[in-house]
Amino acid sequence: MQRRIKRLTQRCCKNLDIKLVFPPYKIKNLFSAKDVISKLSRSRVDYYFFCEGCSSCYVAETNRHLATRVPEHLTSDKNSHIFQHIYGLQACRALCSENCFSILDTASTSFQLKIKEALRIGWEKPLLNKQVNAANLTVSFLFSVFKYPLFSYHCVF
Ligand SMILES: [Zn+2]
Repeated sequence: MQRRIKRLTQRCCKNLDIKLVFPPYKIKNLFSAKDVISKLSRSRVDYYFFCEGCSSCYVAETNRHLATRVPEHLTSDKNSHIFQHIYGLQACRALCSENCFSILDTASTSFQLKIKEALRIGWEKPLLNKQVNAANLTVSFLFSVFKYPLFSYHCVF
C-alpha cells in the first residue's frame, strides 16, 4: 500500500516524501475496561414496570438503588401503585417479578430525575401512574426552570 501511494505521489509531486504511519491497535477498543453495573445496582434512575399479567405499566424514579426499591414494590410498600396493583389481581401477582422492571434513564441530580420522570409520564401515560396530573407540566414552565424564557409553548400532556 505504501508503495502504491509513493508511486501515486511521485507522479503528482516529485519532491514529496510520504511515509505512512499506522496508529497502534489498542486492546481497550475491543471492550470496556469498566465493570458492568447490574440493573439493580444502579441508583438515581427512572424506571419502568411492565405487568406480565395484564400489560399495565408504571413509570417512577428513585434516588436509591433499584435493588432496594423493587422488592418494596413487590412485597412491602402498601402505598406503592405497583404493590396495590399486583396484590389486587391474583394473575398479575403470580407473573410479576423483578424482571418486570427496567431502567429508562439515569440523571446526575434528583431535580433532573424528577423532570425526566414527569416528561416520561406525560409522554407515555402509563396506566398505573395515578400521579399523571402531577405531570401536567407546561413546556413554558420547563423552559423557565432551565432559564430559557423566550420559549413559551404551552403543552399539556
Ligand atoms: Zn397487571
